[in-house]
Amino acid sequence: MTALPKLAQFSRVVVKVGSSLLVDAAKSAVKQEWLEALVDDLAALHKRGADVLVVSSGAIALGRRVAGLKSGPLKLEDSQAAAAIGQIALARAWSEALHRRQIVSGQVLLTLQDTEERRRYLNARETLARLAAMRAVPVINENDTVATSEIRYGDNDRLAARVAAMASADLLILLSDVAGLYDAPPESDPNAKLIRVVERVTPQIEAMAGGAASETSRGGMRTKIEAARIAAAGGAHMVIADGRLLHPIARVSDGGECSWFLTPSNPVTARKAWIGGTLELKGAVTIDAGAARALANGKSLLPAGVTRIEGAFARGDCIAIRNEQGAEIGRGLVALDALRAEQIRGRNSSEIERILGLPGRAELIHRDDMALAER
Ligand code: GLU
Repeated sequence: MTALPKLAQFSRVVVKVGSSLLVDAAKSAVKQEWLEALVDDLAALHKRGADVLVVSSGAIALGRRVAGLKSGPLKLEDSQAAAAIGQIALARAWSEALHRRQIVSGQVLLTLQDTEERRRYLNARETLARLAAMRAVPVINENDTVATSEIRYGDNDRLAARVAAMASADLLILLSDVAGLYDAPPESDPNAKLIRVVERVTPQIEAMAGGAASETSRGGMRTKIEAARIAAAGGAHMVIADGRLLHPIARVSDGGECSWFLTPSNPVTARKAWIGGTLELKGAVTIDAGAARALANGKSLLPAGVTRIEGAFARGDCIAIRNEQGAEIGRGLVALDALRAEQIRGRNSSEIERILGLPGRAELIHRDDMALAER
């Protein structure tokens, strides 16, 4: 059997918490003891230097009773209202629990477009990166109060996987009310075996997922398998683990029962492969020899080293990077549109804020957004 990864090797971890774990539906209240134990686990990860991102469900489950809505399916407007009421309580529960462990948290509510449209994707990614730099823990949920049924994730499994890819996380942990993926339905088949490692999501693995979901958690095993696929493409490993017991992450760390879904690549190479494989380039920058040397040494591209700009590209577009001889030495996602890039071409970082009239990133192309050609 493939050696299982160790939790200690991961540096950016997204943890997804399902509603049924966090919310006592009968009382419409947070299961406080459970939350405290989980946050102890998260604080331990955070303390050893890992960036932690939480994707928490539970807004609708928390809000529905307060809003006087009985169990069963909700109409769209009712679930939006319940989410509005529940999200505020949910955020408070997380921020207080994290705060008690000296961890700053921030609420991030995403809609489908925030991960699917490139500009919005870049903005959200930038915010997550900034929060990570501040060592703050983002507590993320779908913005259910504005999401309509056609344009929403609907389940936080896939949302969490998109977040993992967006944040260049190397691990996604889905805490759920099952121990992992079984080769047969565990409720009906006493011989069902837990699958400890999935190297690749094959049609056979998909078939094992079935479709069932419980009342409080929208995602069944199927959305979890889809999440595994998204996470793998983004360079993150994924774990499905039983969250019902206290300290579920410490259990994974101690080798407890769970299912691992492995990715063949790491976040940076996956991202760079994606950038390097871009079919449609929207423009190009030519850079001087000094900048070319800096890039070869793993630095970002600064405006000072740019001698020429071509194309009407927008922020976030993929453009070519050329050397003085005109040869393409790499590609990258550009942080500014062509007009602004032209305004600051050749300028020092200190002049840029004055010229653009806004404090912004000094890099024209960040090194994480760049793929250099093999030499
Ligand atoms: N976003 C929903 C909520 O917070 C939950 C979605 C899910 O259960 O996956 O209530």
